Amino acid sequence: MNRRYRKTIIAGNWKMNNTLSQTKTFAEEIKPIMPKGKWCNVVLCVPATNIQSAVRLFKDCHIAIGAETCHELDHGAYTGEITAAMIKEAGAKYVIIGHSERRQYYNETDFTVNKKVHAAIEAGLIPIICVGESLEQRELGVTMELIAYQVKCALADVAPEKVRHIVIAYEPLWAIGTGKTATAEQAGEVCQAIRTVIRKQYGAHVARSVTIQYGGSMNAKNAEELLAQPDVDGGLIGGAALKPADFVKIIEAANQE
Ligand code: PEP
Repeated sequence: MNRRYRKTIIAGNWKMNNTLSQTKTFAEEIKPIMPKGKWCNVVLCVPATNIQSAVRLFKDCHIAIGAETCHELDHGAYTGEITAAMIKEAGAKYVIIGHSERRQYYNETDFTVNKKVHAAIEAGLIPIICVGESLEQRELGVTMELIAYQVKCALADVAPEKVRHIVIAYEPLWAIGTGKTATAEQAGEVCQAIRTVIRKQYGAHVARSVTIQYGGSMNAKNAEELLAQPDVDGGLIGGAALKPADFVKIIEAANQE
């Protein structure tokens, strides 16, 4: 983390979990244990049906709300989809884009990720852009090239003053939902490489402002070590964000001096 230049952001990704009543229960449980007045920003990315209520439920404990995806267009005949403007009007501040599950199950590509990033920015949302390599790609030794390619594609034609405010989540596919975490060194190395890519494209001023998270089985036990890496500015958390006490422990790790 480097709080001098950029925000530390701990974001939960609930995926397809938690009904509205379960969301209310989560809010009741987390409120009394939420750390107060500290440095890190906290976000919960929730199913679209819960966004509006979640904004209200988590307001007092300063948890911002995000969506888990958005469509790249601003209207049209796309049954079942929602636009970035709809998400914004529902009260969300963030939207996850290009999560590996969206890439794997819904054919999202680096090209659609870029369109969605533009749509999110246009609507006034902060995109949390996910990039990451598979185990095969890591073993082939192409991680850095692949991540650079994903980052460059995602940010194509995004203006530098907009890039400063985006969030990138490095999520190695082999670590998501597997209980297998990247070592702090692996996470730090790739997050640093992402910042270098941004620096080469947009300059040092932009690069040092961008929040780069690690995601992949981050939990109460390993968060502190991962967050101690200078280029790891927070976490995108799946499983551990479903349990208030575990999520709070990760927030506490991010709040340490
Ligand atoms: C994720 O879904 O973005 C994620 C990192 O999940 P988990 O923490 O469960 O690995």
